[in-house]
Order: sequence, then structure tokens, then C-alpha cells
Amino acid sequence: MSIISDSLKKIKPSPTIAVTQKARELKAAGKDVIGLGAGEPDFDTPDNIKQAAIKAINDGDTKYTAVDGTPALKKAIVEKFKKENNLDYTADQITVGAGGKHVIYNAMMATLNEGDEVIVPAPYWVSYPDIVLLAGGKPVVMECDEKQSFKINPSDLEKFITPKTKWIILNSPSNPTGACYSENDIREIAKVLEKHPHVYILSDDIYEHVTYEGFKFFTIAQIEGLKERVLTMNGVSKAYSMTGWRIGYAAGPKEIIKAIAKIQSQSTTNPSSISQAASVEALSGTQDFIKIRADSFQKRRDFVVKALNDIDGIECLNPDGAFYVFPSCKGLMGKKDTNGKEIKSDTDFVQSLLENSGIAVVQGSAFGLEGFFRISYATSMDNLKKALEKISSFCKSLG
Ligand SMILES: *Cc1c(COP(=O)(O)O)cnc(C)c1O
Repeated sequence: MSIISDSLKKIKPSPTIAVTQKARELKAAGKDVIGLGAGEPDFDTPDNIKQAAIKAINDGDTKYTAVDGTPALKKAIVEKFKKENNLDYTADQITVGAGGKHVIYNAMMATLNEGDEVIVPAPYWVSYPDIVLLAGGKPVVMECDEKQSFKINPSDLEKFITPKTKWIILNSPSNPTGACYSENDIREIAKVLEKHPHVYILSDDIYEHVTYEGFKFFTIAQIEGLKERVLTMNGVSKAYSMTGWRIGYAAGPKEIIKAIAKIQSQSTTNPSSISQAASVEALSGTQDFIKIRADSFQKRRDFVVKALNDIDGIECLNPDGAFYVFPSCKGLMGKKDTNGKEIKSDTDFVQSLLENSGIAVVQGSAFGLEGFFRISYATSMDNLKKALEKISSFCKSLG
């Protein structure tokens, strides 16, 4: 008998770890490594938010809070949904957890029975399938290729829905592709989902505030008649550069919100009181820097997409949001690097790129789609310039 549980054995160690580990080793050996793998904004948390946290500490706001969020934070979240998404919720339809990932984990634990299916469009955020597996569910991966801008094709979706489908996960803007669903895209998907009232929708809106060129964000809960089956997850990590503070939230059916609180009451209790106070300021204070940061991300995206498309063998779409691009490296398959190693897969490509040029990116297969790689451009323009030059000369060196 093993001390490790069967459910834990079902999940794989993160496939991104190999690259990260290798990058760490090369760095330790004194090699110049530029990491384009990180999934977090490089900006610091804005000062007004930090000050709110300091004030919370000084005011003795350091005790247990309500399990699924302080009344003040729930109020700020209710107001956020009204103001930004024109959605009406009451405090008992809101839950707050230790990060958006925690909220998704709780939601799956609260709702999945053995064998329940969850449709996960690929390329996907690496945590979705493993969270579903941990909760005893079955991830049903639906590939969405480059020809459809990595977005769900509504007519394909129908084929993936079975009587066992409990959830479908939507993520726009997307990690890892940056793809954004327009209102029209979402309405087309909604038409299919309207025909299947047993399917719930988890909308991961964490990159809502990282969009470009006037892209108009729309979320599926805004669709009349579907809202009752939508759990909308969001958080402060990406919008406010608060990844380390660990606050995420969701709005949705009271029944699910209550079940999530039950799990939390027997596991983490409340999220940090100080981080909650800071999040009230994040959501209710000045939003000025959101635009400033999005402009800065857009400049980096413009540079990265152009530099990638200038490389023979690489092709890259120009996504409307998040801080990732997901270029194809299919044009380089079958070539050999200067050590004579043949590039047979995206994993070979990223490994060889790291070993030869010191650039760390993540292979597409880690996100469920072969033949691509993910670049995070949440790093300085200087780093990006150096990195893209190195990627370019690496690709030229392949023969
Ligand atoms: C970063 C991220 C999250 C959640 O991040 P938290 O820090 O846990 O709030 C959720 N979904 C996607 C796609 C992400 O990239």
C-alpha cells in the first residue's frame, strides 16, 4: 500500500517544470538566461493598494474574517460586476478565495462526482485538467487550432457535450494564446450551450483588464438566460499586479457559492484579512494604471509579434490580450541544431533553444497543443529585444 493517494497519482507533475528547472541549473552554472516563461506581470503592486494593506495592519485588521470574504470586499466585488460588466449580484452570490486558482479548485471539488466530464478547450491553462482530475472528474480536451485563432468553434462544441458534461471552461483573454472572444464569439457559443441546460459554465476572466486596441471585453454571464449556470471567476493577480497577495473571487449560483464556503470552512478558512483589505482598494480605488500598463503590454506585444514573424520557420498570430503569444515552430521540425540534435517536437525546440541560447519558453504541448510554444512578454523591453535577437539567431543556426 502506498502512502500517496490514488487521486494524487492521477495528476502529472507540471510539464513546465522541466524547462524551469533547466533554466535554474543553467543560471546557477553562470550562464546568461532570459526567462520568458513566467505567468505574472513584471510591474510592482500600485502604491495605493500597498498603503491600504499597511493601514489594515495598523488598524488591527488581522483576525479571522468571514470564511468566503469580508462584507467590505464582497461589496466592492458586487460593485465591480455592476460597473464593469453590467451584472447584478448580491453578496450571497460572491465568494472570495486565496487566488483565482483556489476558487476554481473549490468549485470543482464542490461539484464533481467520479466520472463527471469537464470540457477543457486546448490550448488550456495547465491547471484546468489537473484540478478536474484531483476532484475526481474527467477532463475532455477539445482542440482549438490556429486556423480558428485558438478559439472554440461553436459547431464543434456540440460534439463534445454528453449527458455526463457538468462544466465547460472558458478563458478570455486566454493563457496561453492571448486569444480574446468578442461578444459575437460568445453569443455563438451561448447558442449551443442554451440547448444543453445541464452544462454549467466556468468563465475565467482573470485577464479582463489586459486587452488592447479598444477590444471590448464581454463575459458569458451577460447573456440573458445563461447567467444562472455561470460561475464567473476573476481576481486581482493580473489586473493589479498582485500575484503574491493571493486573492481571487467568483460570482454565481448561490448553491455553488454556499458549497464553496463549506469547503473553505474546513480547509483554508478565510483568505488573508490584509490581502482582502488591499483588494477593496484595488477594486474601488483609482483604476488609472490599468490603461497605462495595458499600453505598455501592447507595445511589447507589437514588438514581439513582429520580431517572431520576421523569423523563417516561425509564425505568430497577433492576439488582443493577456501577456502571451503562442507562435508555431512547426516550420523548424526536422532541422538540426549546432550540436547535431534533431528538432522533432516543440519540446525539442524549447530545450535546444534554452541550451544553445539561454532563452526559456514553454512548449505548446504543456498546454495541450503540439507544435507551438508560449512566450510571456511580461518582462522589460530590453530583455525582450535581447531575447528575440537570440531566438532569431538560434533559428538561423538550425540546418
Ligand atoms: C494566473 C491565472 C489564474 C489565477 O491566478 P491566481 O493568482 O490564482 O488568482 C487563473 N487562470 C489563468 C488562466 C491564469 O493565467
